[in-house]
Amino acid sequence: MRCVAVVLAAGRGKRMNSDIQKQYLLIHEKPVLYYSLDVFEKSFVDEIVLVTGEDEIEYCRREIVEKYGFQKVRQIVAGGKERYHSVYRGIESCGTCDYLMIHDGARPFITEEILLRSLSAVREYGACVAGVRVKDTVKIEDGNGFISETPDRAYLWNVQTPQTFSFSEIKAAYEKLIENEDAILRQGISITDDTMVYQHFFDRKVRLIEGGYKNIKITTPEDLLAAESFLSFFEKKC
Ligand code: C5P
Repeated sequence: MRCVAVVLAAGRGKRMNSDIQKQYLLIHEKPVLYYSLDVFEKSFVDEIVLVTGEDEIEYCRREIVEKYGFQKVRQIVAGGKERYHSVYRGIESCGTCDYLMIHDGARPFITEEILLRSLSAVREYGACVAGVRVKDTVKIEDGNGFISETPDRAYLWNVQTPQTFSFSEIKAAYEKLIENEDAILRQGISITDDTMVYQHFFDRKVRLIEGGYKNIKITTPEDLLAAESFLSFFEKKC
């Protein structure tokens, strides 16, 4: 069984209001991107494909991959304009494998347990995504700033990454997406995760598995404060 992880770090992170992209901001003296690469490096994953901005490839090679000795990062490739372009570039660069894990480099706190749960679910169901049940009541807006619906919270999840698939299927789904990109965009669909792409082209179920409330995506400045306190908590426990 061969398993590859595509780790995404090509976003510009406009919501962070910082000149430095969020994946390179430091938490406890190490870049955000370091933490998830470290978990993949020490896991059962055979290879990591790192997707970053064209201009950051050299920086990533020197300051992250070589500096911290990540031997499983065999390729660093340039991403694209949208997240799904970056995923496609990552998939194109993978050698063939059985399972592909797609992970946001802006989520530093994945754990070995989440990866193991993902592996076990993808083997059983063919596709799975880490997530957590929502804590808040969620409203759907009518498009004019008023509530139109209140979905039943019992069925709502916040999905995270990793999102894990049989490699041949997710590759085929992304190839179809890129082929039909204009038509899909014309339908007003905005593609924000990989399970959407998979389910758009394959009539298959995706298993929801337990991720973690600490598996946050660093998006806005307050997320960095949360990340620092999580790390202090982990360090105290060790
Ligand atoms: O923008 P968002 O927060 O959804 O990004 C999620 C992940 O996807 C981040 O790790 C980001 O670096 C990555 N990304 C990317 N290429 C893009 C946009 C986002 O690799 N064009």
